[in-house]
Amino acid sequence: MNIGVYPGSFDPITYGHLDIIKRSAKLFDRLIVAVLSNPQKSSLFTVDERIEMIRESIYNTPNVEIDSFKGLLIDFARLKQARVIVKGLRAVSDFEYELQMALMNKKLDDHIETIFIMTSSNYSYLSSSIVKEVSSFGGCVASLVPPLVEERLKQKFNNN
Ligand code: ADP
Repeated sequence: MNIGVYPGSFDPITYGHLDIIKRSAKLFDRLIVAVLSNPQKSSLFTVDERIEMIRESIYNTPNVEIDSFKGLLIDFARLKQARVIVKGLRAVSDFEYELQMALMNKKLDDHIETIFIMTSSNYSYLSSSIVKEVSSFGGCVASLVPPLVEERLKQKFNNN
């Protein structure tokens, strides 16, 4: 079976992430969306909240699963018997960091490949952090995240 892992913070999931999920799901028998649980990194939403928002945002994608991981991504990929790590690329600014990560992961396990999917042009500026920033000041993020995520953001920032 051809298994891919799409890792990230997803704090929260955006239409940019969903675009990558839908497109990469077509490339694998199973795609595992892997939510990073990193207590050292402060996040707005808990891992459970992030997973729930992803679950409610993906439909018509029966081969997509959601999981969380701690520690090294490569260990998680091995555990899941995935041979491919999927990353989204937005801009040149993503490239340097992603290249470093991909090379390091290759060094840790030569059998696991990282592939990059280019963002759709209408999402190239979109990140979870910009969504949080806009929402925290009461700005409208309806075109950037699914309605339920917009609702959760409003609750977090008391912008009802
Ligand atoms: P961010 O907080 O920057 O959105 P994540 O860690 O949640 O970052 O991102 C997970 C993965 O999704 C990364 O590979 C990232 O490059 C990719 N990604 C995030 N937003 C987009 C987007 N708008 N278009 C394409 N890929 C994206």
